[in-house]
Amino acid sequence: MNNFFSDTKEAFSLKSNFELNRAYFLFNIIGNSTFVKITTSLTKFALRFHLPVVPIIKATVFDHFCGGVNEKDCIPVINRMFDKNVSSVLDFSTEGFDSEKEFDECLRKKISIIEFVKDRKEIPFAVFKPTCLGSTGLFKKVSNLEKLDDLESDSWNRVIHRFDLVCSKAFDENIKILIDAEEVEVQNAIDDLAIKMMRKYNVSSPIVYNTVQMYRKDRLTYLDEMISNKLNKDVTFGLKLVRGAYMEKERKLADLMNVESPICNSKLNTDKNFNSGLDFVFNNLKRISFVCASHNEDSILKVIEMMKLNGLSNNDNKIWFGQLYGMSDNISFNLASKSYNTFKILPFGSVKNLMPYLIRRAEENTSVQGQTGRELQLILKEKQRRSLL
Ligand SMILES: Cc1cc2nc3c(=O)[nH]c(=O)nc-3n(C[C@H](O)[C@H](O)[C@H](O)COP(=O)(O)OP(=O)(O)OC[C@H]3O[C@@H](n4cnc5c(N)ncnc54)[C@H](O)[C@@H]3O)c2cc1C
Repeated sequence: MNNFFSDTKEAFSLKSNFELNRAYFLFNIIGNSTFVKITTSLTKFALRFHLPVVPIIKATVFDHFCGGVNEKDCIPVINRMFDKNVSSVLDFSTEGFDSEKEFDECLRKKISIIEFVKDRKEIPFAVFKPTCLGSTGLFKKVSNLEKLDDLESDSWNRVIHRFDLVCSKAFDENIKILIDAEEVEVQNAIDDLAIKMMRKYNVSSPIVYNTVQMYRKDRLTYLDEMISNKLNKDVTFGLKLVRGAYMEKERKLADLMNVESPICNSKLNTDKNFNSGLDFVFNNLKRISFVCASHNEDSILKVIEMMKLNGLSNNDNKIWFGQLYGMSDNISFNLASKSYNTFKILPFGSVKNLMPYLIRRAEENTSVQGQTGRELQLILKEKQRRSLL
């Protein structure tokens, strides 16, 4: 582990002994893929049949990875992190919504969150998942350039309108807004909407940030085309680079459809792509504001190096680092202690709505070689420092 990130006292300064022990327990069990598979199925079953598992989930995995059920629950966490110079990005969980009524509800919620964060310097961004504003089926059709019937066209126009309402609210309140990236089959439509929003709202400063998943083989070409497109010549781009969260699902789908997987063939290739993405950002820094959303220490160190080479101060507003709440505290808190702009994505919502997010975190920590080991090693080091072993 690099010295930059090895200060576990700083990393876990907000964790009580109880929370540290709980984190140790959690990362130990989610490192076991068989256990995760069985527990995931049992939990889905228990929730569907209203068995009383919510308090158990709430006291364990939920409290570790989420801020609470509503915005107000999150305030103590937000304040404690901000005392350590770590900002928060409130992420209201909205997965699995699939009716016009729910999409409108979601729109109202996203707008109310922007209203909630607008005067809080500890929350610099808002965020939304595009398919919370319209049906996944419709996003797929639009992504494939399929012809829409009249009803579908009306629905799609409502999606565009909802996108515009969220982004215009962010613009009016001067809050930067992150648009999450999703599965490949819906992403063309998302990219198209995102760039339209950037053309409209990123005129003098970056408001809208699109997410680019560098585990995709085609994303460097996408970035090149985006920047050289004449229609974008006046755009100040907001970009959030990630590796990508849907690898297993994408691979299964490609297998099922008997097509080449859109995802890089190896972790090494994803890492190379991510690095090339970073080169792209810094080669075009005049036109890009950037969020490095990663738990990978080498990637963070590369950004720090490139900031130095480009003469940027640690807290230059063009560059932000983001990690998920409950993961890689050693990166977030050590970055923040050196004045780098750093935020944690803080999900909130009901336990039931957050289950897909929590399952993704468990699967990610199981499938991603190294992440669980990294977390456990750090927690163990801190437990030793506090003489808890
Ligand atoms: C603040 C924040 C916001 C995020 N927003 C999004 C989002 O909008 N959309 C989204 O999809 N994800 C999002 N993610 C998740 C992200 O895409 C990654 O899944 C996660 O951060 C792990 O990647 P890493 O760079 O942190 O670390 P690492 O541990 O270095 O990389 C793990 C990642 O590498 C890739 N990988 C692993 N094994 C292989 C393999 N065999 N072949 C090819 N590639 C492989 C996968 O993408 C895997 O997730 C976000 C993450 C953060 C921290």
